[in-house]
Formats: sequence, C-alpha cells, structure tokens
Amino acid sequence: MFDLKTIIDRPNIPWKLIISAFSIAQFSFESYLTYRQYQKLSETKLPPVLEDEIDNETFHKSRNYSRAKAKFSIFSDVYNLAQKLVFIKYDFFPKIWHMAVNLSNAILPVKFHMVSTVAQSLCFLGLLSSLSTLVDLPLSYYTHFVLEEKFGFNKLTFKLWITDMFKSLSLAYAIGGPILYLFLKIFDKFPTDFLWYIMIFLFVVQVLAMTIIPVFIMPLFNKFTPLEEGELKKSIENLADRVGFPLDQIFVIDGSKRSSHSNAYFTGLPFTSKRIVLFDTLVNSNSTDEITAVLAHEIGHWQKNHIVNMVIFSQLHTFLIFTLFTSVYRNSSFYNTFGFFTERMTGGFIDPVITKEFPIIIGFMLFNDLLTPLECAMQFVMSLISRTHEYQADAYAKKLGYKQNLCRALIDLQIKNLSTMNVDPLYSSYHYSHPTLAERLTALDYVSEKKKN
Ligand SMILES: [Zn+2]
Repeated sequence: MFDLKTIIDRPNIPWKLIISAFSIAQFSFESYLTYRQYQKLSETKLPPVLEDEIDNETFHKSRNYSRAKAKFSIFSDVYNLAQKLVFIKYDFFPKIWHMAVNLSNAILPVKFHMVSTVAQSLCFLGLLSSLSTLVDLPLSYYTHFVLEEKFGFNKLTFKLWITDMFKSLSLAYAIGGPILYLFLKIFDKFPTDFLWYIMIFLFVVQVLAMTIIPVFIMPLFNKFTPLEEGELKKSIENLADRVGFPLDQIFVIDGSKRSSHSNAYFTGLPFTSKRIVLFDTLVNSNSTDEITAVLAHEIGHWQKNHIVNMVIFSQLHTFLIFTLFTSVYRNSSFYNTFGFFTERMTGGFIDPVITKEFPIIIGFMLFNDLLTPLECAMQFVMSLISRTHEYQADAYAKKLGYKQNLCRALIDLQIKNLSTMNVDPLYSSYHYSHPTLAERLTALDYVSEKKKN
C-alpha cells in the first residue's frame, strides 16, 4: 500500500529548500493580492450603492488609509519572510534548542537532566516567543504609533502599549505553559497513538478558552461596566425576549482606551446564557435603534448556530492536521536537514535514547511550515464560510425588521473606521471575513434615504 511515511523519510529530500520555497510562494501570492488591491485603490469612483452615502472627504481619507495599510503590509511581509529564511538558512532552530537544553539543565535538578524533553521544549518555546516578541516590536510600534496615529485611530499610550505586551507575555507563559506541558505529555505517553488523545485534549482546551477568556482574561485588558438602565438596555432586552436569546448580562467596555474603531459581540458557549459586549465607541456615537440592529445581526449568528459550525469546522481542520502529522512524526530526514542529530539504526530499529533527539515540538513547528499551501487554500474556505455567516446574520436582522437601521449602522461604522470602499474580489475572498459594505447593502436591498426623497 501507498506508505506516505516511508516515501517522505528519505535522506535526500531537500526539506529546507521545500519549506523555503513554500514560504516564498505564499509571500509572492499574497503580494500579488495586495498589488491587485492597491490598483483597485486608485479608482476614483465609489461602488454605485455607496455613492449617496459616502462623502468625498471620507472616500479620500479611506483611500489614503487603505493605501498606507497596503504599503505597510508589503513591508511587514518582506520583513517576516526575511526573518524566516534567515532562521532556516542559519539553523536557528537547533541553536535555540541547544540554548533551551542548557537553560533547562541549569534550572532542573541533576537527576532530570537528559530526561525531560518536555521541560526542554517548554524552555525552547519560552525563548522563541520572547525572541519573536522582540523581533516584532518595531512592526507593532509602527502600526500603532505611526499608521493608526496618522489617521486618528490610535488611543494607546506608550506606557499602555508596553504594559499590554508584558501582560500578554506573562499570560502566554502562565496559561500557555501548562497547556503546552499537557500537550507534549500526551505525545510522551502515547507516542504511536496520540491522535485521539490530542483531539480530545484540544477540544477541551477550545471549550475552556471560550469560557475562560471572555470572563477572566479580557477584563485584564479592558474595563467591563454593566450597561446602565435606560432606553438602550430596554431595547436590547426586548429584542432578546422577542427571539428567545438567552441573555445574561450586557457590558460596555472601554475600547476607546486603545483605538477608536468600534464593535459589538457576544460570548458564551452554545446552550448557555450569553453576555453581550458593546464598545463604548459604539454606544457613544450610535442611536439606540442602530445599536439594537447591530445586536439583531449578532443574535442572528447565535440563531443560525454559526458558533457551533465554526467549532466543528476548526475541530475537523485540527483533525486533518494531526492525521497528516502522524506521517512526519519521527521522520529522521526531516530532523536531520534542520540540524537535529538523529540516527537511524540498522533494521529500522530506533534506539530509545537516540529518539530523545526527536523533539516533537520542533517537528510540529516545521511540519506547520510544510502545510503552508494547504493553509492558504484553507483560508479561502474559512473566509467563504465566515462571509456566508455574515450574510445570513444580516438577513436575520432584516427579517426582524431592522433593515434600515442595520444599513445605517453599517454605513456609519464604515465611515468611522475608514474601511476600504473599493475592494478587489480576489483579495477580499482571501482576506475578508466579512463581505464589503457595498456587498452587504446590495444583499440587504438597501435603498438610500436620499434617493427615496
Ligand atoms: Zn457578524
């Protein structure tokens, strides 16, 4: 039978070249998309459905903002690609791995030395994530303090930017550490039949994340204030009552602390009560009817089971990844090319001491790079599913009678966020999780108030 494992475990396979080529191909494809979008931004006419809605000044500003973002995305793509190629070419993986081994030997009691690949892997990831935060620092700084600042969106102070970064890193160590520990332990305990254990584990992690992040983690970054009694609260509660939405609490968060972009969302597992979260930027600048219309759209996501769909889809995706991973797992040619010492013993027998040199985490990271073409294709599929969900949620709000208010809210958000007006179809089918405003208004059969008069 066709045995993928043997086919891809030959010493002459140029893995470094293959992974570099995949990265370059992805970069070229994405740059081509950005180029197409950039061309689209030179158009001086709005899509017809927006003509009566967007004034010239907003259109002009939005084009400049979109252009600035497109240019920056090319720059950061080049930066990331260069980083990756340098990493591969100069064997940074084994170098950092050896640093991690030394570090874990320094921390752990002597009797565990040479034993705990799991501890070494955790040190490795700690080093790697600190390093990548450091390397990404200039990009993050530019995004907030130059790009967003220039268009008046940035509300971050330098101090808040730094504290956010430390908070995120500490959380990554505190929460990501134990999760990774268990993840690696599963491979340790079930070296040949890890697939189902990993699947169950990741499913539990996903469910826990959906429960814990909104309630315990997000309040570390934003202040959640219960929405005060009044017209808006009544209006949202009436809507929830009307459609049987299990509303628990409504919060307003100080999104304006970081950015003046607006938003609204709800959180909570399927079959449990939900909390609705509104950005202060939305509450402060939109009418009650418009905000209720936005929530009618959000409730549409719940009504149509979009969250359950997405969880199922992401589980299937994970299943595919780990099924494929079983073929690369313990592939000596793979580890060898990337500078890890492995030795194949005669007769296909692998010495248990030498197998210690197959750090699973390294294999998994490199394997993820091999998946680049698959992941690019997957991004088209995910964006398509997500956009379909958005259309359905819009249609749901329309059915409840919120068409005009939803359209007005969408137009208003588009103007405030200076979102791109003219969008290349190929670019958006890859990058956009939401249909464009013009597409949404058209699907909603929107007729401009100005045209009606
Ligand atoms: Zn939506």
